[in-house]
Amino acid sequence: MSDAIAWLERLVAFDTTSRNSNLALIDDVARFLRAHGIEPRIIKSEDGEKANLFATVGPAIPGGIVLSGHTDVVPVDGQPWDTDPFRVTRKGGRLYGRGTSDMKAFAACALALLPQMARRGLKRPIHLAFSYDEEVGCIGVGSMIRHMAEVGESRPGIVIVGEPTDMTVVNAHKGIASFVTTVTGLEAHSSQTHRGVNAVQVAAELIGELGRIGQEMQRRGDPHARFDPPYTTVHVGTIQGGTAQNIIPRQCRFTWEYRAIPGTDAEDVRAMFDAYVRDKALPRMRQVFPAAAIDTDLRALAAPLVPEDGSPAESLVLALARQNRTFAVAYGTEGGLFQEAGFPTVVCGPGNIKEAHQPNEFIEIAQVEACTQFLERVIDHCAA
Ligand SMILES: [Zn+2]
Repeated sequence: MSDAIAWLERLVAFDTTSRNSNLALIDDVARFLRAHGIEPRIIKSEDGEKANLFATVGPAIPGGIVLSGHTDVVPVDGQPWDTDPFRVTRKGGRLYGRGTSDMKAFAACALALLPQMARRGLKRPIHLAFSYDEEVGCIGVGSMIRHMAEVGESRPGIVIVGEPTDMTVVNAHKGIASFVTTVTGLEAHSSQTHRGVNAVQVAAELIGELGRIGQEMQRRGDPHARFDPPYTTVHVGTIQGGTAQNIIPRQCRFTWEYRAIPGTDAEDVRAMFDAYVRDKALPRMRQVFPAAAIDTDLRALAAPLVPEDGSPAESLVLALARQNRTFAVAYGTEGGLFQEAGFPTVVCGPGNIKEAHQPNEFIEIAQVEACTQFLERVIDHCAA
Protein backbone atom coordinates (compact mmCIF):
# COMPACT_ATOMS: atom_id res chain seq x y z
CA MET A 1 0.00 0.00 0.00
CA SER A 2 2.75 2.48 0.92
CA ASP A 3 4.41 1.47 -2.36
CA ALA A 4 1.22 2.45 -4.20
CA ILE A 5 1.20 5.86 -2.49
CA ALA A 6 4.89 6.32 -3.31
CA TRP A 7 4.13 5.51 -6.94
CA LEU A 8 1.19 7.92 -6.92
CA GLU A 9 3.50 10.68 -5.64
CA ARG A 10 5.96 9.81 -8.39
CA LEU A 11 3.35 9.84 -11.18
CA VAL A 12 1.54 12.99 -10.04
CA ALA A 13 4.87 14.88 -9.99
CA PHE A 14 5.00 14.62 -13.81
CA ASP A 15 2.85 17.42 -15.21
CA THR A 16 1.20 15.33 -17.90
CA THR A 17 -1.55 17.82 -18.73
CA SER A 18 -2.66 16.62 -22.17
CA ARG A 19 -1.01 19.56 -23.97
CA ASN A 20 2.40 18.51 -22.57
CA SER A 21 4.61 15.58 -23.47
CA ASN A 22 4.19 12.48 -21.29
CA LEU A 23 7.57 11.03 -22.29
CA ALA A 24 9.28 11.72 -18.96
CA LEU A 25 6.63 9.68 -17.15
CA ILE A 26 6.75 6.90 -19.77
CA ASP A 27 10.57 6.78 -19.56
CA ASP A 28 10.42 6.55 -15.78
CA VAL A 29 7.96 3.65 -15.92
CA ALA A 30 9.95 1.95 -18.72
CA ARG A 31 13.17 2.13 -16.69
CA PHE A 32 11.37 0.57 -13.72
CA LEU A 33 9.96 -2.24 -15.87
CA ARG A 34 13.37 -2.96 -17.42
CA ALA A 35 14.87 -3.17 -13.95
CA HIS A 36 12.42 -6.03 -13.36
CA GLY A 37 13.30 -7.78 -16.60
CA ILE A 38 10.32 -6.54 -18.59
CA GLU A 39 10.87 -4.84 -21.94
CA PRO A 40 7.93 -2.52 -22.63
CA ARG A 41 6.69 -1.63 -26.08
CA ILE A 42 6.74 2.17 -26.48
CA ILE A 43 4.33 3.34 -29.17
CA LYS A 44 4.98 7.00 -29.97
CA SER A 45 2.62 9.61 -31.36
CA GLU A 46 3.23 10.79 -34.92
CA ASP A 47 5.15 13.87 -33.75
CA GLY A 48 7.14 11.78 -31.27
CA GLU A 49 6.15 14.04 -28.35
CA LYS A 50 3.98 11.48 -26.54
CA ALA A 51 3.79 7.73 -26.17
CA ASN A 52 1.71 4.76 -25.13
CA LEU A 53 3.40 2.04 -23.11
CA PHE A 54 2.42 -1.59 -23.41
CA ALA A 55 4.12 -4.23 -21.31
CA THR A 56 3.51 -7.91 -20.68
CA VAL A 57 4.34 -9.63 -17.42
CA GLY A 58 4.29 -13.43 -17.61
CA PRO A 59 4.09 -15.77 -20.57
CA ALA A 60 3.40 -14.59 -24.13
CA ILE A 61 0.20 -16.57 -24.51
CA PRO A 62 -3.35 -15.46 -25.30
CA GLY A 63 -5.96 -14.83 -22.67
CA GLY A 64 -4.28 -12.49 -20.23
CA ILE A 65 -5.67 -9.48 -18.41
CA VAL A 66 -4.97 -5.90 -19.49
CA LEU A 67 -4.73 -3.20 -16.83
CA SER A 68 -5.42 -0.03 -18.76
CA GLY A 69 -5.07 3.62 -17.82
CA HIS A 70 -4.36 6.99 -19.36
CA THR A 71 -1.32 8.97 -18.26
CA ASP A 72 -2.60 12.45 -19.14
CA VAL A 73 -4.56 14.79 -16.87
CA VAL A 74 -6.81 17.80 -17.39
CA PRO A 75 -5.40 21.33 -16.93
CA VAL A 76 -5.33 23.10 -13.56
CA ASP A 77 -5.44 26.54 -15.25
CA GLY A 78 -7.64 28.99 -13.40
CA GLN A 79 -8.66 26.48 -10.73
CA PRO A 80 -8.39 27.54 -7.09
CA TRP A 81 -6.13 24.81 -5.66
CA ASP A 82 -5.21 24.91 -1.97
CA THR A 83 -2.10 22.80 -2.53
CA ASP A 84 0.46 22.27 -5.31
CA PRO A 85 -1.53 20.15 -7.79
CA PHE A 86 1.61 18.35 -8.95
CA ARG A 87 2.69 17.28 -5.49
CA VAL A 88 0.64 14.73 -3.58
CA THR A 89 -0.48 16.21 -0.28
CA ARG A 90 -1.84 13.95 2.41
CA LYS A 91 -4.62 15.34 4.58
CA GLY A 92 -6.69 13.10 6.80
CA GLY A 93 -7.50 9.97 4.84
CA ARG A 94 -7.05 11.69 1.50
CA LEU A 95 -4.32 12.24 -1.07
CA TYR A 96 -4.68 15.52 -2.99
CA GLY A 97 -3.19 16.22 -6.41
CA ARG A 98 -4.04 16.44 -10.11
CA GLY A 99 -4.67 12.95 -11.45
CA THR A 100 -5.02 11.24 -8.07
CA SER A 101 -8.53 10.04 -8.91
CA ASP A 102 -8.39 10.48 -12.70
CA MET A 103 -6.48 8.27 -13.01
CA LYS A 104 -2.92 7.86 -11.86
CA ALA A 105 -3.88 5.89 -8.74
CA PHE A 106 -4.80 2.81 -10.78
CA ALA A 107 -1.44 2.84 -12.56
CA ALA A 108 0.29 3.50 -9.23
CA CYS A 109 -1.33 0.43 -7.64
CA ALA A 110 -0.39 -1.72 -10.63
CA LEU A 111 3.23 -0.49 -10.69
CA ALA A 112 3.59 -0.98 -6.95
CA LEU A 113 2.59 -4.62 -7.43
CA LEU A 114 4.80 -5.16 -10.47
CA PRO A 115 7.70 -6.72 -8.53
CA GLN A 116 5.18 -9.22 -7.12
CA MET A 117 3.79 -9.93 -10.60
CA ALA A 118 7.30 -10.49 -11.94
CA ARG A 119 8.24 -12.77 -9.04
CA ARG A 120 5.13 -14.92 -8.95
CA GLY A 121 5.65 -16.88 -12.17
CA LEU A 122 2.32 -15.99 -13.76
CA LYS A 123 0.57 -18.73 -15.75
CA ARG A 124 -1.50 -16.12 -17.57
CA PRO A 125 -0.06 -12.76 -18.57
CA ILE A 126 -0.91 -9.40 -17.03
CA HIS A 127 -0.48 -6.55 -19.50
CA LEU A 128 -0.02 -2.90 -18.62
CA ALA A 129 -1.49 -0.50 -21.19
CA PHE A 130 -0.79 3.17 -20.41
CA SER A 131 -2.02 5.69 -22.98
CA TYR A 132 -1.72 9.40 -23.78
CA ASP A 133 -4.29 12.03 -24.83
CA GLU A 134 -7.36 10.37 -23.30
CA GLU A 135 -8.62 13.65 -21.85
CA VAL A 136 -8.69 15.33 -25.25
CA GLY A 137 -10.92 12.71 -26.84
CA CYS A 138 -9.33 9.23 -26.47
CA ILE A 139 -6.91 10.11 -29.27
CA GLY A 140 -3.75 8.31 -28.18
CA VAL A 141 -4.87 4.80 -27.31
CA GLY A 142 -5.77 3.72 -30.86
CA SER A 143 -2.24 2.78 -31.93
CA MET A 144 -1.80 0.67 -28.78
CA ILE A 145 -5.11 -1.12 -29.36
CA ARG A 146 -3.98 -1.92 -32.91
CA HIS A 147 -0.76 -3.35 -31.50
CA MET A 148 -2.73 -5.45 -28.99
CA ALA A 149 -5.01 -6.78 -31.71
CA GLU A 150 -2.03 -7.73 -33.88
CA VAL A 151 0.04 -9.68 -31.35
CA GLY A 152 -1.80 -12.90 -32.18
CA GLU A 153 0.26 -15.23 -30.00
CA SER A 154 -0.45 -13.21 -26.87
CA ARG A 155 -3.74 -11.50 -27.66
CA PRO A 156 -5.20 -10.37 -24.33
CA GLY A 157 -8.42 -11.96 -23.09
CA ILE A 158 -10.00 -9.07 -21.21
CA VAL A 159 -9.41 -5.40 -20.45
CA ILE A 160 -9.91 -3.61 -17.15
CA VAL A 161 -9.97 0.17 -17.56
CA GLY A 162 -9.08 1.64 -14.18
CA GLU A 163 -11.04 4.90 -14.39
CA PRO A 164 -12.56 5.92 -11.05
CA THR A 165 -15.63 3.80 -10.21
CA ASP A 166 -15.14 3.50 -6.44
CA MET A 167 -13.98 -0.04 -7.32
CA THR A 168 -17.44 -1.02 -8.53
CA VAL A 169 -17.74 -2.80 -11.88
CA VAL A 170 -19.02 -0.68 -14.74
CA ASN A 171 -20.13 -2.45 -17.93
CA ALA A 172 -21.75 0.45 -19.79
CA HIS A 173 -20.99 4.06 -20.52
CA LYS A 174 -22.11 6.66 -22.95
CA GLY A 175 -20.29 7.48 -26.17
CA ILE A 176 -19.03 10.99 -26.82
CA ALA A 177 -18.94 12.92 -30.06
CA SER A 178 -17.51 16.44 -29.93
CA PHE A 179 -17.56 19.09 -32.61
CA VAL A 180 -16.43 22.58 -33.48
CA THR A 181 -18.84 24.68 -35.51
CA THR A 182 -17.56 27.77 -37.31
CA VAL A 183 -20.05 30.34 -38.57
CA THR A 184 -18.73 32.69 -41.24
CA GLY A 185 -20.83 35.75 -41.99
CA LEU A 186 -20.12 39.19 -43.37
CA GLU A 187 -18.63 42.16 -41.53
CA ALA A 188 -20.35 45.55 -41.68
CA HIS A 189 -20.81 48.69 -39.58
CA SER A 190 -23.14 47.83 -36.74
CA SER A 191 -25.66 50.42 -37.96
CA GLN A 192 -25.96 48.53 -41.28
CA THR A 193 -27.53 45.32 -40.07
CA HIS A 194 -29.14 44.70 -43.47
CA ARG A 195 -25.70 44.69 -45.20
CA GLY A 196 -23.93 42.26 -42.87
CA VAL A 197 -24.44 38.69 -41.73
CA ASN A 198 -24.01 38.49 -37.99
CA ALA A 199 -22.05 35.32 -37.20
CA VAL A 200 -22.55 35.67 -33.43
CA GLN A 201 -26.31 35.87 -33.79
CA VAL A 202 -26.43 32.88 -36.14
CA ALA A 203 -24.26 30.93 -33.69
CA ALA A 204 -26.64 31.88 -30.88
CA GLU A 205 -29.52 30.57 -32.97
CA LEU A 206 -27.70 27.29 -33.65
CA ILE A 207 -26.92 26.93 -29.95
CA GLY A 208 -30.61 27.47 -29.23
CA GLU A 209 -31.38 24.69 -31.70
CA LEU A 210 -28.91 22.40 -29.88
CA GLY A 211 -30.85 23.16 -26.70
CA ARG A 212 -34.06 22.12 -28.41
CA ILE A 213 -32.43 18.90 -29.69
CA GLY A 214 -31.20 18.23 -26.15
CA GLN A 215 -34.78 18.50 -24.87
CA GLU A 216 -35.92 16.09 -27.57
CA MET A 217 -33.26 13.59 -26.45
CA GLN A 218 -34.38 14.01 -22.85
CA ARG A 219 -37.97 13.24 -23.90
CA ARG A 220 -36.82 10.08 -25.68
CA GLY A 221 -34.91 8.97 -22.58
CA ASP A 222 -33.06 5.74 -21.84
CA PRO A 223 -35.14 2.58 -22.27
CA HIS A 224 -33.14 0.85 -19.51
CA ALA A 225 -32.86 3.83 -17.15
CA ARG A 226 -29.34 2.85 -16.07
CA PHE A 227 -27.66 6.20 -16.66
CA ASP A 228 -27.53 9.38 -14.65
CA PRO A 229 -28.97 11.37 -16.31
CA PRO A 230 -31.10 8.76 -18.10
CA TYR A 231 -30.91 10.27 -21.58
CA THR A 232 -28.49 11.38 -24.28
CA THR A 233 -27.10 14.81 -23.34
CA VAL A 234 -26.25 17.73 -25.64
CA HIS A 235 -23.90 20.46 -24.41
CA VAL A 236 -22.12 23.59 -25.67
CA GLY A 237 -18.74 24.17 -24.00
CA THR A 238 -17.02 27.26 -25.44
CA ILE A 239 -17.81 30.15 -27.75
CA GLN A 240 -15.69 32.87 -29.33
CA GLY A 241 -16.80 35.50 -31.77
CA GLY A 242 -16.78 39.14 -32.80
CA THR A 243 -14.14 41.83 -32.60
CA ALA A 244 -15.84 45.01 -31.40
CA GLN A 245 -19.20 46.17 -30.16
CA ASN A 246 -19.82 48.29 -33.26
CA ILE A 247 -18.79 45.75 -35.91
CA ILE A 248 -21.16 43.10 -37.21
CA PRO A 249 -19.10 39.99 -36.47
CA ARG A 250 -17.79 37.98 -39.39
CA GLN A 251 -16.90 34.88 -37.46
CA CYS A 252 -18.11 32.89 -34.47
CA ARG A 253 -16.94 29.50 -33.35
CA PHE A 254 -18.36 27.22 -30.69
CA THR A 255 -17.57 23.72 -29.41
CA TRP A 256 -20.25 21.24 -28.49
CA GLU A 257 -20.79 17.59 -27.83
CA TYR A 258 -23.34 14.91 -27.31
CA ARG A 259 -23.01 11.95 -24.98
CA ALA A 260 -25.14 9.16 -26.26
CA ILE A 261 -26.67 6.19 -24.52
CA PRO A 262 -25.34 3.01 -26.18
CA GLY A 263 -27.70 1.43 -28.66
CA THR A 264 -29.87 4.51 -29.21
CA ASP A 265 -30.21 6.62 -32.31
CA ALA A 266 -27.64 9.17 -31.18
CA GLU A 267 -26.62 9.99 -34.74
CA ASP A 268 -29.95 11.82 -34.83
CA VAL A 269 -28.37 14.68 -32.86
CA ARG A 270 -25.91 15.50 -35.61
CA ALA A 271 -28.51 14.83 -38.32
CA MET A 272 -31.06 17.18 -36.71
CA PHE A 273 -28.41 19.88 -36.28
CA ASP A 274 -27.23 19.52 -39.89
CA ALA A 275 -30.79 19.67 -41.16
CA TYR A 276 -31.39 22.94 -39.31
CA VAL A 277 -28.17 24.40 -40.74
CA ARG A 278 -28.99 23.28 -44.27
CA ASP A 279 -32.69 24.18 -44.36
CA LYS A 280 -32.99 27.19 -42.05
CA ALA A 281 -29.83 29.02 -41.02
CA LEU A 282 -27.70 28.84 -44.16
CA PRO A 283 -30.34 29.86 -46.76
CA ARG A 284 -31.13 32.97 -44.71
CA MET A 285 -27.46 33.94 -44.43
CA ARG A 286 -26.89 33.38 -48.16
CA GLN A 287 -29.72 35.69 -49.15
CA VAL A 288 -27.46 38.52 -47.97
CA PHE A 289 -24.04 36.96 -48.58
CA PRO A 290 -23.74 33.95 -50.91
CA ALA A 291 -20.33 32.95 -49.49
CA ALA A 292 -21.67 32.65 -45.93
CA ALA A 293 -20.79 29.30 -44.36
CA ILE A 294 -21.45 27.07 -41.39
CA ASP A 295 -18.84 24.34 -41.01
CA THR A 296 -19.01 21.62 -38.40
CA ASP A 297 -15.96 19.42 -37.82
CA LEU A 298 -15.82 16.32 -35.70
CA ARG A 299 -13.10 16.81 -33.08
CA ALA A 300 -13.27 13.52 -31.25
CA LEU A 301 -15.36 10.43 -31.11
CA ALA A 302 -15.27 8.00 -28.20
CA ALA A 303 -17.22 4.81 -28.61
CA PRO A 304 -19.80 3.89 -25.97
CA LEU A 305 -19.22 0.85 -23.77
CA VAL A 306 -22.04 -1.49 -24.66
CA PRO A 307 -23.15 -3.83 -21.87
CA GLU A 308 -22.39 -7.49 -22.63
CA ASP A 309 -24.14 -9.37 -19.88
CA GLY A 310 -22.14 -12.37 -18.74
CA SER A 311 -19.04 -11.46 -20.79
CA PRO A 312 -15.77 -13.01 -19.55
CA ALA A 313 -14.58 -9.57 -18.44
CA GLU A 314 -17.73 -8.93 -16.46
CA SER A 315 -17.85 -12.34 -14.74
CA LEU A 316 -14.19 -12.40 -13.80
CA VAL A 317 -13.94 -8.80 -12.59
CA LEU A 318 -17.16 -9.06 -10.58
CA ALA A 319 -15.69 -12.09 -8.81
CA LEU A 320 -12.26 -10.53 -8.24
CA ALA A 321 -13.72 -7.20 -7.12
CA ARG A 322 -16.16 -9.07 -4.83
CA GLN A 323 -19.12 -7.28 -6.36
CA ASN A 324 -22.45 -8.76 -7.34
CA ARG A 325 -23.81 -6.19 -9.76
CA THR A 326 -22.69 -3.94 -12.56
CA PHE A 327 -23.24 -0.22 -13.03
CA ALA A 328 -23.55 2.23 -15.91
CA VAL A 329 -21.82 5.63 -15.85
CA ALA A 330 -22.36 8.83 -17.78
CA TYR A 331 -18.71 9.64 -18.47
CA GLY A 332 -16.70 8.19 -21.34
CA THR A 333 -13.55 6.05 -21.21
CA GLU A 334 -11.20 4.27 -23.60
CA GLY A 335 -13.18 1.12 -22.80
CA GLY A 336 -15.51 1.52 -25.78
CA LEU A 337 -12.50 1.52 -28.13
CA PHE A 338 -11.07 -1.68 -26.60
CA GLN A 339 -14.49 -3.26 -26.92
CA GLU A 340 -14.82 -2.16 -30.55
CA ALA A 341 -11.51 -3.93 -31.26
CA GLY A 342 -13.01 -7.15 -29.88
CA PHE A 343 -11.67 -7.15 -26.32
CA PRO A 344 -14.25 -7.85 -23.59
CA THR A 345 -13.93 -4.78 -21.36
CA VAL A 346 -15.16 -3.40 -18.06
CA VAL A 347 -14.27 -0.28 -16.10
CA CYS A 348 -13.19 -0.74 -12.49
CA GLY A 349 -10.82 1.56 -10.65
CA PRO A 350 -10.16 3.51 -7.47
CA GLY A 351 -11.53 6.97 -6.73
CA ASN A 352 -14.68 8.82 -7.56
CA ILE A 353 -15.47 10.62 -10.80
CA LYS A 354 -16.95 13.50 -8.74
CA GLU A 355 -13.39 14.36 -7.68
CA ALA A 356 -12.08 14.27 -11.26
CA HIS A 357 -11.29 17.47 -13.19
CA GLN A 358 -11.90 19.53 -10.03
CA PRO A 359 -9.63 21.83 -8.09
CA ASN A 360 -8.38 19.97 -5.02
CA GLU A 361 -8.84 16.61 -6.74
CA PHE A 362 -8.19 13.83 -4.26
CA ILE A 363 -8.44 10.12 -3.69
CA GLU A 364 -9.35 8.37 -0.46
CA ILE A 365 -6.46 6.27 0.82
CA ALA A 366 -9.05 3.54 1.44
CA GLN A 367 -9.65 3.43 -2.32
CA VAL A 368 -5.92 2.93 -2.98
CA GLU A 369 -6.04 0.12 -0.46
CA ALA A 370 -9.13 -1.47 -2.06
CA CYS A 371 -7.54 -1.28 -5.52
CA THR A 372 -4.33 -2.86 -4.23
CA GLN A 373 -6.31 -5.76 -2.74
CA PHE A 374 -8.26 -6.16 -5.97
CA LEU A 375 -5.07 -6.28 -8.04
CA GLU A 376 -3.55 -8.80 -5.63
CA ARG A 377 -6.53 -11.03 -6.41
CA VAL A 378 -5.93 -10.43 -10.14
CA ILE A 379 -2.33 -11.61 -9.62
CA ASP A 380 -3.50 -14.66 -7.64
CA HIS A 381 -5.90 -15.50 -10.45
CA CYS A 382 -3.18 -15.22 -13.09
CA ALA A 383 -0.70 -17.21 -11.01
CA ALA A 384 -3.12 -20.06 -10.29
ZN1 LIG B 1 -9.87 9.55 -16.84
